[in-house]
Amino acid sequence: MQVDYLIVGQGISGTMLSWFLHKEGESFVILDESKGDTSSKVAAGIINPVTGRRFVRSWMIEELLPFARKTYDELETFLQVHFIRHLDMIRFFPNAESRDLFATRITEDDTYLHPYPEQNDFNPFFNYHYGCGQVRPAFCVDLGVLLAAWRQQLGDAVRNQRFEPAALQEANDHIVYEDITAQKIIFCEGVMGEANPWFGLLPFSANKGEALFIECPGLIDKHIFKQHHLLAPLMQPGLFWVGSTYQNRFTDAHPTEDFRVKTEAYLKEWIKLPFTVVNHKAAIRPATVERRPFIGMHPHHPAIGICNGMGTKGTSLAPYFAHQLVQHLVHGVTLTPEADIRRFERILSRRN
Ligand SMILES: Cc1cc2nc3c(=O)[nH]c(=O)nc-3n(C[C@H](O)[C@H](O)[C@H](O)COP(=O)(O)OP(=O)(O)OC[C@H]3O[C@@H](n4cnc5c(N)ncnc54)[C@H](O)[C@@H]3O)c2cc1C
Repeated sequence: MQVDYLIVGQGISGTMLSWFLHKEGESFVILDESKGDTSSKVAAGIINPVTGRRFVRSWMIEELLPFARKTYDELETFLQVHFIRHLDMIRFFPNAESRDLFATRITEDDTYLHPYPEQNDFNPFFNYHYGCGQVRPAFCVDLGVLLAAWRQQLGDAVRNQRFEPAALQEANDHIVYEDITAQKIIFCEGVMGEANPWFGLLPFSANKGEALFIECPGLIDKHIFKQHHLLAPLMQPGLFWVGSTYQNRFTDAHPTEDFRVKTEAYLKEWIKLPFTVVNHKAAIRPATVERRPFIGMHPHHPAIGICNGMGTKGTSLAPYFAHQLVQHLVHGVTLTPEADIRRFERILSRRN
């Protein structure tokens, strides 16, 4: 079988890469070892333009957010499946300093931060003592629904199969893998990229996260909420996602008793309505030391490339940077220097 591209991995990175290749009329095959709890399948899929305790704008959000929104809207129309919700985020302030800082930030830049006039609106649902502010726009993308719908659409173009590096035959202008001959191979392996023979030396900084899935009938589902944890409504009415942790040190990818117990105790203090924990998941994010993606072709292996390193923000980063990589491959467009793996040329020359 002859195709333009062989893609390894169908998380949100591989999904976006193949979508934009499809739009350019390029042919591809994806190898994806179907696993339950990969990063994309555990994620809340939130796009939040303002992050952290200091309410700082996310990197490149002015470009990333409208591009992601347009891409997900297009994919919804193409696939005839609903997976994106246009919401806002209500930030409950943990203390008076945080409330004052939010007010100051609004005077500096009110693009995404807004006062929330009805401060008591959420009293029937939550305990909060220092008021709240609004971040908008924000989005919640059900990545599990999107990934499954795209996989179904692709049919035989996706194989439920593990890629084995030893079986790859490489030339300057093509690769051969089993029965597949392709001009290029692009790795979208998420955290498994750390073990990739061509890209494993890139400065990954794997980061484990856990989430509880709760059923809470009657809980307001028109917003994403953030206090100590994020709480996001899922597509199914009455179901909510609660998370997460950011652990740089971990021994495995499994959910922990510690997270479940602490998060449940926290939720009992925060939410005024009864709830039931219906699921508990964990996954490892493909985060990077610089918190910037890894995209581009290997400087010493012209037929081998990567689209990875989406870290904690794959929902907003993957559409933009997968599109940019496709524009680079098909039309020679220059990559954003902070994301282009050529910045690690010396590191990458250590393996060949
Ligand atoms: C708890 C949690 C919450 C999160 N919440 C958010 C959020 O709200 N918003 C946000 O933007 N991001 C969030 N993230 C981060 C987000 O999940 C990641 O940025 C994103 O999913 C990374 O996608 P990916 O496609 O690069 O990797 P992955 O989702 O890991 O996909 C990689 C795929 O490649 C396959 N694969 C790997 N190696 C091979 C191989 N050798 N052969 C075949 N297949 C292979 C894997 O099976 C997998 O299907 C969260 C992450 C976690 C863990």
